[in-house]
Amino acid sequence: MSWDSSIETLSGVGKQRANLFKRVGVETVGDLLTYYPREYEDRRNVTQINEVTIGELVTIKATVCTIPQNIKKRGLMVTKVKLKDATGFIFALWFGQSYMKNNLKLGEENYFTGKVSFKYGQMQLQSPDFIKSGQVESTAIYPLYPLTNKLSQKIVRSLTKQALSVSSNVLVDFIPEFIREKYHLAAYNFTIDQIHYPDNYENLELARKRVVFEEFYTLQVGLMQIKNILSNKKEGFILNPVDEEMRFLQTLPFSLTKAQNNVWKEIKDDLASKGIMNRLVQGDVGSGKTIIALLGLLQTVKNGYQGALMVPTEVLAKQHYEEATKLLEPFNIRLALLVGSVTKKNKEKIYEQLESGEIDVVIGTHAVIQEGLSFKALGLVITDEQHRFGVRQRTALAEKNNKANILVMTATPIPRTLALILYGDLDISIIDELPPGRQVIKTYSVNKSYHQRIYSFIREQVEEGRQAYIICPMVEESDEQSDLKAVVQYTEYLQSEVFDLPIAYLHGKQKAKEKNDILSRFANNEIKVLVSTTVVEVGVNVPNATVMLIENAERFGLAQLHQLRGRVGRGRHQSYCILITDSKNEVTNKRMKIMTESNDGFRLSEVDLSLRGPGDVFGLKQHGLPNFKVANIYENMDILKEAQQAAKETIKLDPHLELESNKDLKKRIEMYFKDSENYVTL
Ligand code: ADP
Ligand code: MG
Repeated sequence: MSWDSSIETLSGVGKQRANLFKRVGVETVGDLLTYYPREYEDRRNVTQINEVTIGELVTIKATVCTIPQNIKKRGLMVTKVKLKDATGFIFALWFGQSYMKNNLKLGEENYFTGKVSFKYGQMQLQSPDFIKSGQVESTAIYPLYPLTNKLSQKIVRSLTKQALSVSSNVLVDFIPEFIREKYHLAAYNFTIDQIHYPDNYENLELARKRVVFEEFYTLQVGLMQIKNILSNKKEGFILNPVDEEMRFLQTLPFSLTKAQNNVWKEIKDDLASKGIMNRLVQGDVGSGKTIIALLGLLQTVKNGYQGALMVPTEVLAKQHYEEATKLLEPFNIRLALLVGSVTKKNKEKIYEQLESGEIDVVIGTHAVIQEGLSFKALGLVITDEQHRFGVRQRTALAEKNNKANILVMTATPIPRTLALILYGDLDISIIDELPPGRQVIKTYSVNKSYHQRIYSFIREQVEEGRQAYIICPMVEESDEQSDLKAVVQYTEYLQSEVFDLPIAYLHGKQKAKEKNDILSRFANNEIKVLVSTTVVEVGVNVPNATVMLIENAERFGLAQLHQLRGRVGRGRHQSYCILITDSKNEVTNKRMKIMTESNDGFRLSEVDLSLRGPGDVFGLKQHGLPNFKVANIYENMDILKEAQQAAKETIKLDPHLELESNKDLKKRIEMYFKDSENYVTL
């Protein structure tokens, strides 16, 4: 048996059970051994029956003193038995587990662990776990695994036990020995053994420390290794500042904010230096990142090189293309739009022109990185709304010309610590200021009873010349989720019952041409109310729109709500965001509340992390990385620093993990990253 053996090699696992495990991501023995308990139950203390407290979880050692009975209660089979020890008696009940009757024998002494309740004048244990006394682990620190339905603690435990019993020849310590020694890490065997079945809390602590270290370390080494692969390039092109810059800035109807100026200066210097730029620009929605991108393109092209701007959606590509054409064409810059819907023939033409240098700037979706596309002299690659791209896509683009400067723009505020981990030595610029005169978007959270009032409000806004977005979570109505608003049917309803206005809908399943058509009519103020899914979430810029109405707001995360809200408040008019929800869920209510209180994306991202709960505290998933199972960036900051240091030491010795002694580490890293095609790093 090896780490990679299917769990079906364990006894008691057939196809069906294997499928249940697959749902929690466990397919191999290795997966099972790293399926760590979510918490532990201390069963070392046995409570006497006369000392149990109602509402508490207790372990008692008691004898079965009645023949177990199955009684039918309101259609549910209840198994009931009376238990006693020297101090008193208590009843134990199991629901819908009629087989329990045969598991219990009169006169037998067992350990029972369960929650105490008091019902019908009786002390009861509800569905207690029981273990025959005499079994070693009956009074121990017990693992509680994360479960899905049909997977019981008993099943998972019996299998982890089995896997552990054969694990000595399966477990390979993949952390290099010098790191293990320097950072006082527990051995791998010990770690895996004790994290599942700790002998005591001291051992558990040692095991957990090692696992936390391991998780940080694997991530770090993996990211650094990739970075090394990507930055196997030293000297780039020198792209000097150009005279046209001044004229370009003068044609704008505004002057740059101080923050924009600072960030642009950093980029300008990067481009002019011999090194290769590798810079991330973070700026909240509406902070004016596009203009920075265009300035970068101008400088690049006027130095005789080409630029590429890659965006995640066709809608956004089109919009950027139009804006860029308007502002850059006067400088004799030749642009092309390259998106999926461009005909094959036209694509080929664009390919040719990029290769010959007849096109200076290409703007597009991932079509930009399709095979067969090559540039004459690519000098700058920009990706906008960076978090939507996977590393594969970006590395592919960088490989088009490995000397090209890289600029990455994102509105997703990444908490500082996380940014440092994910991006390591990547330079970060922050646009921490919105253009002046931008009014705070007034945000309200209301329930459905406000619909009519809101419709009237939208009518008033439209009469004043403005426009509105209405966001729904669904494209079409479904029977299963009839409480959710759907774009298609809702538009029909609004059209026939509510608004006597030009109204249209937009969603991801429409043809690109249709989408573009609707968006440009909305941008031209021909459509007054646009009912849409979250396809408008990223980057759409229609400054005349002032109302963002979000139906079923409970269905959206904070980051998403903030992005959606960013579609309004982009012009000089007062704008409004109205969140509609009937949800009584506590976390939802907190989210709605913070939305009404804050317009600050960074603050929202911090709150988002704290509301997300232990499952994804780190927010890695949002960034396309696999989650840590045990590590927590807030609680384990010290270990994180150590792991980061250790990763540096490892990579310094073996930048591409080619040493035989790092073979297992390399394998582990590949495993760790295998499901994360979309992870973000450079
Ligand atoms: P984002 O950072 O979200 O990509 P955009 O680049 O789309 O923001 O800019 C949002 C709007 O603000 C655009 O209409 C843009 O023309 C405008 N804008 C950008 N910079 C300034 C500025 N310094 N002063 C006023 N308006 C600006
Ligand atoms: Mg943008």
